[in-house]
Amino acid sequence: MAGAVIRIAIDADRCQGHARCAVRAPELFDVDDDQGKSLALMETVPPELADAAAAAVETCPERAISLHDE
Ligand code: SF4
Repeated sequence: MAGAVIRIAIDADRCQGHARCAVRAPELFDVDDDQGKSLALMETVPPELADAAAAAVETCPERAISLHDE
């Protein structure tokens, strides 16, 4: 049985670009130098990166990252 697909959403209005997410989960996030906003490097979270994705959500002080089960 396949597990749930987890999709990453970043609220650009909240994101302040300080890159805590990219430090915590570099496989999943990078900060666009021009925009000063975080980018999701993957649309969905592979199972092996689920903990890293959750840690990135926790580390974002702006609450800009959310994860959505599909
Ligand atoms: S930690 Fe949050 S506010 Fe900072 S760059 Fe990442 S998503 Fe944006």
